[in-house]
Amino acid sequence: MTMVVIACAEDRAFVMTDTASYSKWVELIRQTSKVDVLPHLSAAIVTQGDSGFGALVKAAIREAAAASETYDDLVAAAPDYFGQVWDTISSDLPTDGPGAWLEPSTVLLVGYSTTAGRFVGYGFASSDYFEPFELGDLWMVPTPWQMRPGPRELADLREFTKMIEGADELFDLWAIQPEPTAPTSLHEFTRLAQQIRVTRAQQDFCKVIVGGRAFLTILEPEGQLQNVKLLDYGDDGPDFLELVNGTAHPLAQVAPCDCGSERPWIQCCDAGSDPCRFCQSGKPLAECCAIDAEQIPDLLEDRQRRLAMKV
Ligand SMILES: [Zn+2]
Ligand SMILES: [Zn+2]
Repeated sequence: MTMVVIACAEDRAFVMTDTASYSKWVELIRQTSKVDVLPHLSAAIVTQGDSGFGALVKAAIREAAAASETYDDLVAAAPDYFGQVWDTISSDLPTDGPGAWLEPSTVLLVGYSTTAGRFVGYGFASSDYFEPFELGDLWMVPTPWQMRPGPRELADLREFTKMIEGADELFDLWAIQPEPTAPTSLHEFTRLAQQIRVTRAQQDFCKVIVGGRAFLTILEPEGQLQNVKLLDYGDDGPDFLELVNGTAHPLAQVAPCDCGSERPWIQCCDAGSDPCRFCQSGKPLAECCAIDAEQIPDLLEDRQRRLAMKV
């Protein structure tokens, strides 16, 4: 997951993303722009989910774009390209272990539709085998808790938390929050980027890692585009611990256990017996995503060092 906000209007489209890419185990893969621009079609592509899939899809879309006269042609051709990439990667996966599943992924395309006479965005989800759906005037993931989420995000999170008691009631409340309006200025985008980070990345429930920098790409017809840095999130020190807390990141696995024992969570209570909640292995955490016991002293030292950076 990653932050993506897409706002489409007649004469321009905005794509806001963060820059930090994390693996399934929340190790930083790279810091880079997540938006690839296809200037001759006044279009851009962003992917969410599996990072290996995302990289190959972006290569495939360049090939598809080179063979397309218009953005509308590209949208029509895209599902076949995405499906082929998905099938190729799926057939090469190991049969067991934490690498045996592809993270569900979504490809987002936005561009100037000559038939519609305005910018139009589409999503293509692996769960629908890349059948396109329209993004509307504003599409955002993750949505702050104070704003109404889109139907897909809401349905995905309900499914993801169906075993958690009380989660449904929280989502019922979320679903009746005020509908967000599309930001139109740099100031409004910056404020939204901060709100998403505070409400969805720096707390544990349904956490989405949003980090690095927030960037805004502005597309205009005829392919003019601007890239604007909105803000630096500042992922250092204790902020980083807050960001990864509750995930499988090694620094989170040595966080103090909830029971108050002050022992690393990974060595306390029933961490070894539950089915792992960080992957789909169905095995105890100790047999898939857990860190090696010998790493623990170094990680504890790293945590202390980061906490000491607090000003
Ligand atoms: Zn404990
Ligand atoms: Zn696991």
